[in-house]
Amino acid sequence: MFEYQAPANLLENRVILVTGAGDGIGRAAALTYARHGATVILLGRTTEKLEKVYDEIESAGYPQPAIIPFNLEGAAPHDYDAIADTIAQEFGRLDGLLHNAGLLGRLGPLFQYDPDTWQQVMQVNVNAEFMLTKVLLPLLREAPEASVVFTSSSVGSKGRAHWGAYSVSKFATEGLMQVLADEEDGLSQVRSNAINPGATRTAMRAKAYPGEDPNTLPAAEDIMPVYLYLMGSDSREVNGQVLKAQ
Ligand code: NDP
Repeated sequence: MFEYQAPANLLENRVILVTGAGDGIGRAAALTYARHGATVILLGRTTEKLEKVYDEIESAGYPQPAIIPFNLEGAAPHDYDAIADTIAQEFGRLDGLLHNAGLLGRLGPLFQYDPDTWQQVMQVNVNAEFMLTKVLLPLLREAPEASVVFTSSSVGSKGRAHWGAYSVSKFATEGLMQVLADEEDGLSQVRSNAINPGATRTAMRAKAYPGEDPNTLPAAEDIMPVYLYLMGSDSREVNGQVLKAQ
C-alpha cells in the first residue's frame, strides 16, 4: 500500500470536486477528503447515492458538501459551463478535482466489440474528463495551489486482450493528464497526476471479475493514502506522474 500519513487538517479550507462520488472509490475519496477538512462537491449520475454520501458527511460534522447530479455520458458543452458557473458562484474557488467516474463497458475481443459501447466508454472515461477540466481550469488556476487527479488502471499503460475501450480510455486518460501537466508547468500552480488504484473491492471490479472473492481485495477506504497525498500540499512538487495506490 502507498505509505502516507496525512495530517488531520490536510485539506482545510479547500474546495474539491469528486466525480462518481456516489459509489466505490469516489464515495470513499469524498468522505476521506471531507474528514480532512475539505468542502466536497459530489458529482454523479445517481442522485440518491449522492444524497447518502451527503448525509454521511453532514452527520459526521464535516464541512457541508454540495451535490451536482450530472450524467457525464449525455452532457453537452453548455452543461459543463453551467457547472463551472455554479461552482464560481457558490464557492468562489476550486482547489482540487478528482476525475474518478468511470465505465467498464463490456469485456471482449475487438472484432466483436460493440461500437455503441465503445463510444459510451470513451465519452465517460475520456471526453468528459477533457470537458470538465477545460471549464474548471480558470477556477483552478486562481487557487493558491491546485491539484487535478485522474484515475488510470494497469491496462492504461499496457494493453490487455479483451479490455477494449476501457484499456484505450485509460491510455487516453494518462495522455490527457500528461498534456495538462506539461501545459500548466511553469504557467500556473495547477498540477496533474494520475492514480492507478489497483484491484479494489467495488461494483466495477466485481463486474470485471465475477468469479473472484471480493473479500480477498482491499476496500476503497484502504487505498486512500495516495488520494490524500496527491490532493494535499505534500505533493506540491509532483506533476505528470502516475502513482500506484497499492
Ligand atoms: P464503481 O463502478 O464502483 O463507481 C464508478 C462511479 O462512477 C459510480 O459512482 C458511477 O455512478 C459513476 N459513473 C459512471 N458513469 C457515470 C456517468 N455517466 N456520469 C456520472 N457518473 C458516472 O467503480 P470504481 O469505484 O471501482 O472505479 C472508480 C475509478 O477507478 C474508475 O475510473 C475505474 O476505472 C478505476 N479503477 C478501479 C479499479 C478497481 O479495482 N475497482 C481498478 C483500476 C481502476 P453510479 O453509481 O450512479 O453508477
